[in-house]
Amino acid sequence: MDKAAEVAIIGAGLAGAEAAWQLARRGVRVVLWEMRPERTTPAHVTGDFAELVCSNSLRSDDLANAAGLLKAEMERLGSLVIAAARATATPAGGALAVDRARFSAAITKRLLALPAVRLRRAEAAALPPGPAIIAAGPLASPALAAAIRELTGRDSLYFFDAAAPIVTLESVDQTRAFWASRYDKGGRDYLNCPLNEEEYLRFHAALLTAETAEIHGFEQKMVFEGCMPIEVMASRGLRTMAFGPLKPVGLTDPRTGRPPWAAVQLRKENLAGDLLNLVGFQTHLRRSEQERVFRMIPGLERAEFARYGVMHRNTYIRGPAVLNSDFSAKARPDLFFAGQITGVEGYIESAASGLMTALSLYRRLCGRPLPPFPPETALGGLAAHITASPSDDYQPMNVTFGLLPPLAGKIRGKREKNRALAARALAALDGFSQKHELTADAADLA
Ligand SMILES: Cc1cc2nc3c(=O)[nH]c(=O)nc-3n(C[C@H](O)[C@H](O)[C@H](O)COP(=O)(O)OP(=O)(O)OC[C@H]3O[C@@H](n4cnc5c(N)ncnc54)[C@H](O)[C@@H]3O)c2cc1C
Repeated sequence: MDKAAEVAIIGAGLAGAEAAWQLARRGVRVVLWEMRPERTTPAHVTGDFAELVCSNSLRSDDLANAAGLLKAEMERLGSLVIAAARATATPAGGALAVDRARFSAAITKRLLALPAVRLRRAEAAALPPGPAIIAAGPLASPALAAAIRELTGRDSLYFFDAAAPIVTLESVDQTRAFWASRYDKGGRDYLNCPLNEEEYLRFHAALLTAETAEIHGFEQKMVFEGCMPIEVMASRGLRTMAFGPLKPVGLTDPRTGRPPWAAVQLRKENLAGDLLNLVGFQTHLRRSEQERVFRMIPGLERAEFARYGVMHRNTYIRGPAVLNSDFSAKARPDLFFAGQITGVEGYIESAASGLMTALSLYRRLCGRPLPPFPPETALGGLAAHITASPSDDYQPMNVTFGLLPPLAGKIRGKREKNRALAARALAALDGFSQKHELTADAADLA
């Protein structure tokens, strides 16, 4: 690969647009493939780049929140997506929300004004010759998905994401929840949240009336053919959940010495054990409803969601098995992946992935490969999840402070702790950027 080569980027979504910007502003020629509007996906409605397919919020803008930290890091690396978001922001309290039409239009206009960017309005039905970045997103076209599967192997490309929410261990009230496995088999592997009959009935009633996210026609079939959402299970009968994932058999609540009436089990999601999965709670509820209803479970009153439950079409590769640490494919090192297709979840995470992949590819073109981003940064935490996560059951992940190594000393108070993590992250990123000459001017939208 050499710097004079033209890089093909497949998909002008959040990741592809950011990657094109990062490469083109460094003088690399880019051919950006986008199949919309001629050929669209089941969720997009325009032909613009970086279309937000659902909410218009890019989440928190506060450094005490991991999504806020990720934005600050991207901003320091001259992100076009963040600059466009700031230029088109709408009032949203502590969050960064945008006018979606102006946001996508600003990104489209800015990219098309760059002489190094050539637009190809067509579907890429096969993998392009290298160097290239696949940023085709969770709704990658079927022909391209088939080509990716050919490269990665059948077991390394997923098409559907049915995931239960993940909460942080520190946010669970352990005076109410207790560690145990059913019948004491396998040690104290689960954190159990016991419910008495009254608590169960209240929780059941709340599930029945909770609001679900919009279901696209293409998702409906998959949802019900796949594993059953907890709210659907609740609608099957008053005690269906109590005979299913909430069954109390084999558990003894140490506070009463008796089995609880029902129990929600939380299972460790990562080796550090600081992220916990709500077993059997795949759900289609809106995020705000997940917070409201799942916080009714004893012990989860203050639960912090590291990831919300989702059930949607999601094409993604098994990142740790398929990718090198620079996001290139092990089977074809001139082919890189970026965005949700790598197993990040969310608009900002997808754009961040596009940014990192572009910088890695750029440095490879220059013959000076970039080492992985520092693990203390939100970018580095996401990168490690994508390429080095140990989990066999690889699941897409939003950015969370749980992806970062813990602080050396103890700090009281969650906000203070998160702020210290953010300060450490930004210092680590500054050192890394200087050392590897990554610093960039703010993206100008003129
Ligand atoms: C229904 C749905 C709702 C979501 N809601 C949210 C939300 O509210 N908040 C949030 O943070 N995240 C949400 N996400 C998750 C995710 O953040 C977004 O999907 C995000 O847009 C992913 O960014 P991306 O760049 O990886 O993919 P995309 O933004 O989808 O970009 C991929 C691009 O590739 C193009 N493309 C695909 N195949 C080809 C091909 N063969 N040739 C040429 N072009 C191609 C597509 O047209 C598209 O423009 C949602 C996802 C889905 C599916």
